[in-house]
Amino acid sequence: MSNLKIYNTLARDKQTFVPMEAGKVRMYVCGMTIYDYCHIGHARMMMAFDVMYRWLMASGYDVTYARNITDIDDKIIKRAVENGETISQLTTRFTKYMDEDTGALGILPPTLVPRATEYVPQMLALIETLESKDLAYQGTDGDVNYAVRNFPNYGRLSGKSLDDLRAGERVDVNTGKRDPLDFVLWKASKESEPEEVKWDSKWGKGRPGWHIECSAMCSALLGEQFDIHGGGADLQFPHHENEIAQSEGAFGHAMVNYWVHNGFVRVDNEKMSKSLGNFFTIRDVLKKYDAEVIRFFILRAHYRSPLNYSDAHLDDARVALTRLYTALDGVEGDGAALDWQEPHAARFAEAMDDDFNTPVALAVLFDLASELNRSKSPAVARQLKGLADVIGLLARTPQQFRQAAVGDADVSGDAAIDAAIARRIEAKKARNFAASDQIRAELLAAGIILEDKPDGTTNWRRA
Ligand SMILES: [Zn+2]
Repeated sequence: MSNLKIYNTLARDKQTFVPMEAGKVRMYVCGMTIYDYCHIGHARMMMAFDVMYRWLMASGYDVTYARNITDIDDKIIKRAVENGETISQLTTRFTKYMDEDTGALGILPPTLVPRATEYVPQMLALIETLESKDLAYQGTDGDVNYAVRNFPNYGRLSGKSLDDLRAGERVDVNTGKRDPLDFVLWKASKESEPEEVKWDSKWGKGRPGWHIECSAMCSALLGEQFDIHGGGADLQFPHHENEIAQSEGAFGHAMVNYWVHNGFVRVDNEKMSKSLGNFFTIRDVLKKYDAEVIRFFILRAHYRSPLNYSDAHLDDARVALTRLYTALDGVEGDGAALDWQEPHAARFAEAMDDDFNTPVALAVLFDLASELNRSKSPAVARQLKGLADVIGLLARTPQQFRQAAVGDADVSGDAAIDAAIARRIEAKKARNFAASDQIRAELLAAGIILEDKPDGTTNWRRA
């Protein structure tokens, strides 16, 4: 059906994608643990799999895409108690905010959005199966744990042996675990916890561990074995390793054919994290930048590469996206369907088939924009808009885009203009007059008039 190749973390290689069932793809992605606003790292994760979902559909597959919501977790309980609200009030509110943020960024709703609390019976059934196969035991503290030493393939996804993995673990004498790598499947309830998070089970009142949630939800919705399982690179170990141990341990066969992981977000070349205080919520960034500029910025990096977040890169993304829109000024598409045989479209498809290589696909859009600047051909405009639409870009008119993303006289807008002027000066120094003219034309299209001074500096004003 297609020539798609996907980098499979389990194989550590790009592999030709062969679905289990012809024409159909079943994909599961670990979604959000809901207790706060989504940050730009979450946006990147959801965008990575949104692009895969879109490309699989554009390739003609019937895709069932499940992205779960973890609505039961230590952090959620803690936050709800702090706020003096119920777990479901907290998770309902932040699920709504997540939907608003992802909607703004053009991230399509997945086919299925299972919530962990709706699958507790399936989790309990899975734990019983594991117990019957000697892969789970109840510890002295009442928690039910997974016995990693009884699962021979443990460590295969992360490429580590049990001994390697154990070297980094400290034995916590306060748990009932037999091995430091054993992980909790079922947490015994504490007296102090809200009644809302206590479920009855044969092991006593408790609640599920995080890892078993995903094994239960994906097998309930997509079957014991399915095509693609994804998530952030930080989930490879232990979360995905543990999902494999649970599902393959319980079902006795392979769980997932392609494991796919997106890269980290870095902020000014440092890892983004709450502890470093350098993380940005999607909402913060949307106050400064148009949603499509953020989308474009994320797609400019390949999903497995680190994404370096900085205002300079977002300003640059705004200028570049303006260039694509500017090419569409005064020319409408001819209304015909996207022609996949046309050379640009073929190159775009080749890039997307090469492990969803969006930076190369975007480069094709810029080639089309250059051609459109010369020819103003409606057929070229149709190809540009049609290909951009496949990855969720260029849905507005150039005027609408400029009004929303560039025209407002905010400080960040000025920073973008200054950045563009600096790049133009560099281009002139390099005697790249075509590029310098292009930047002047882009700014003019955005209503910015440049005035070169004899001393080599440039002033600007709004038209
Ligand atoms: Zn998961």
